[in-house]
Amino acid sequence: MSISTNLQQVSQALAGFAQEAGRNPKDIVLLAVSKTFGADAVIAAAQAGQRAFGENYVQEAVDKIAAVRQAAPGLALEWHFIGPLQSNKTKPVAEHFDWVHAVDREKIAQRLSDQRPSNLPPLNICLQVNVSGEASKSGVAPADLPALAQAVVALPNLRLRGLMAIPEPAATLAAQREPFAQLRKLQEQLRAEGIETDTLSMGMSADMQAAILEGASIVRIGTAIFGKREYAN
Ligand SMILES: *Cc1c(COP(=O)(O)O)cnc(C)c1O
Repeated sequence: MSISTNLQQVSQALAGFAQEAGRNPKDIVLLAVSKTFGADAVIAAAQAGQRAFGENYVQEAVDKIAAVRQAAPGLALEWHFIGPLQSNKTKPVAEHFDWVHAVDREKIAQRLSDQRPSNLPPLNICLQVNVSGEASKSGVAPADLPALAQAVVALPNLRLRGLMAIPEPAATLAAQREPFAQLRKLQEQLRAEGIETDTLSMGMSADMQAAILEGASIVRIGTAIFGKREYAN
């Protein structure tokens, strides 16, 4: 299967799930997760119309962004850092990315804001929340979310866009929907407290339908577009 055929199939599936949810497919961004794949795969996807790409590993991503820019200087792509971020690696992320999805503590947010170059627009931020059934220990606890959101809103070079979650794989659609519904409710609670956001980053290749039914505005899809990854970090 070629990347462009896969992209077409994923876009069709996305549109079908949006219709099932009574939503406009244009309100759902397909983020192509290109980690472990080379610049050539990104360029192939971009030539098929894909614009937003997600990466997990800082050095791999920075090298890839440079390689894509050199090989295809005309492409205007959007880069999203979706992996866990250590505080000693915030600088290249602040310099090379448009979005960061997995911010879960104030120290990381503070550094990203301090290190964001002044010639670039504010860095778009999603806060990773540890919803029930979260796959890892990362993510802010729901009880601590409002304070973290307030802190990020106050930082000058960041723009708080929304929430992100990575739930544990679940066997049924109903079980997959539960943590995504929880994330949506947390977004509503923030709104009630005066913090307006427009993004729910949730859903991967195996649970895209559940995420879209619960209101995902960015789905992060790797395997269904690029194929199986050769190594897992
Ligand atoms: C790797 C990864 C994805 C993509 O996962 P697939 O199952 O390959 O679609 C999405 N989100 C995050 C945070 C990831 O690390």
